This record gives sequence, C-alpha cells and structure tokens, in this order.
Amino acid sequence: MPDIRIVVCMKVTPKPEEVGVDYSTNLLDRANARSEINPPDMNALELALSLKDIHGGRVDILSMGPPFFEPFLRVGLAMGAERIFLLSDPAFGGADTLATTYTLARGIDHIGGVDLVLCGEESSDGATGQVPPGLAEWLSWNQITLVDRIVLDKDKHLINGRREVPGGVEVLQTSLPAVVSVKTASNEPRFMNYRIKERVFSEDLVTIWGESDIEVEKTMIGLTGSPTMVSGLAQAPSRERRQEYLTGTVEQITQGLVALLNELV
Ligand SMILES: Cc1cc2nc3c(=O)[nH]c(=O)nc-3n(C[C@H](O)[C@H](O)[C@H](O)COP(=O)(O)OP(=O)(O)OC[C@H]3O[C@@H](n4cnc5c(N)ncnc54)[C@H](O)[C@@H]3O)c2cc1C
Repeated sequence: MPDIRIVVCMKVTPKPEEVGVDYSTNLLDRANARSEINPPDMNALELALSLKDIHGGRVDILSMGPPFFEPFLRVGLAMGAERIFLLSDPAFGGADTLATTYTLARGIDHIGGVDLVLCGEESSDGATGQVPPGLAEWLSWNQITLVDRIVLDKDKHLINGRREVPGGVEVLQTSLPAVVSVKTASNEPRFMNYRIKERVFSEDLVTIWGESDIEVEKTMIGLTGSPTMVSGLAQAPSRERRQEYLTGTVEQITQGLVALLNELV
C-alpha cells in the first residue's frame, strides 16, 4: 500500500480562563482573551506524527477560521507536519457545527487522497464534540471516537483504535478512509524540532482557500448554512457552600456530624 496520508483538524481557541460572555449579543467575548491551539488537537497531531514516525507518509493540518489562526498553526510545521490548509473566508463566518463540518469535509475532498482524518476530542470553546462525527457523515467514512492509541495495518488498509471504557478497554477496527477523534491528554505532544524550525516561517507551506477555491454550495456554508442559533444564555446559579463548625467532645462532634449527614440523606 502507498504511504498513508493523514490530515489533522486543528482549531485555534481562546484561553478558557480569559473568555467572558457578552449577554447583549449572546456571544463569547474574546476581546481580552489570548488564543492558543485547542489543546486536544495537539494530542491528535502527536498521534498522527507518531504514526508517520513508524509508517512514513505525510501529515497535513486543516483548519477553518479567520486569518489570525495561521501563526498558531505554523507551530505544527516545526513539529513535523508537511503543510497547513486554512479555510478562511468571511463567507464561512457564523458557521454552526453543521456548516463547519460541511466546509471542512469539502476541504478534505479538495486536498484529495486522504486516508485518515484525526481530530481532537472536543474544542475548549464550542465543546460540542460534534465535529468528528459530523465530518465522518459528510464524507461517508467510517469513524471511531475517543481513542488513545491507533495501530495501523498499512497492508490491509485498516486501523485498530483503542479507547478506555469503564472497567476496561475497547479495540475497534475499521477500514480506511476513516475519521478518528483522539482522547484529550492521551499522549505528550512533542516539542518543536529545532532542526526544522525555519519551516515555521516558510510561505510555501501554507495554503489558504476561500469559498471559490473549494467546491461548496453557497447555501450550506457560514451563517446561511447554520440552522442552530443561540437563543439565550443564563448563568448557572453557584451553589452556596454550607459551613458549620462542630465543637464539644469527640462524642458530641461525632453525634453532630451523624445528625448533619442524616439531614442530607
Ligand atoms: C449559530 C452559531 C454561530 C456561530 N458562529 C461562529 C462564528 O462566527 N465564528 C466562530 O469561530 N465560531 C462560531 N460558532 C461556533 C462554531 O460552530 C464552532 O466553533 C465549530 O462548529 C466547531 O464546533 P466545536 O467548537 O463544538 O468543536 P468540537 O466538535 O468540540 O471539536 C472537536 C474537534 O473538531 C476539530 N475542529 C473543530 N472546529 C474546527 C475548525 N474550525 N477547524 C478545524 N478543526 C476543527 C478539532 O480537532 C476539535 O478538537 C457558531 C456556533 C453557532 C451555534
């Protein structure tokens, strides 16, 4: 079998601890938040690069988002990815998960010859976890979710994905092409390789595609292609912690504690 071609879907997200909510628009307020590569996507990239270490082939990065994503994604080039494909166009803006997965799937078609798509488990902002299964649906490919390891059988063109379940592990086998989501923190993403660090600055290794570059139905992308809307946002009431100090002898404290626990059950 020829070398395997892997695409890793990566998103740039605001640091969760720095994001607020604008209740007048029901949108996230990212104005004061710094950005980073969605941390689980680094686990997906590491898994892809480790497969390349063993079997050869190539690993590319695919993302849909505004132009400011590009410098963040470039780190992947110094880790060992071959190329970045960024789908960036105002027409893609306002996309929900349906339109996002449709657009990413058309991007994968446009790249061509892809055997395996790896995604993070979920994003740290939207956090729906819908993108990997949605992609598999649009592409009509097999899928395995939440794996922490992949064993590739290049000759048979299939993979075994391992995932932890309560009380054990499952090993799921599927033929390629397939979409796989990778469990957060399932590996230690490698550091940049200093021997290839200048790749980070290479103009040739980044391809930016807009609406007219990939074959998309105008009605299926961006806000027009997004049936979901955020109709309201509310803050969950924070639960008051009850504090009570028990005093007295050990016996009195114990009886008091038992009485309090009885109140709870
Ligand atoms: C009505 C509506 C309007 C929206 N408008 C906007 C908007 O204008 N701008 C905006 O940024 N977001 C917008 N969003 C959010 C957008 O839909 C999500 O960011 C996107 O669909 C990904 O979903 P998620 O974050 O839940 O990803 P998840 O499904 O939780 O992510 C799982 C994995 O999928 C991959 N992935 C997810 N998103 C991308 C991506 N964009 N590129 C590459 N890989 C990806 C990553 O590997 C990630 O780890 C909107 C959402 C709604 C409901």
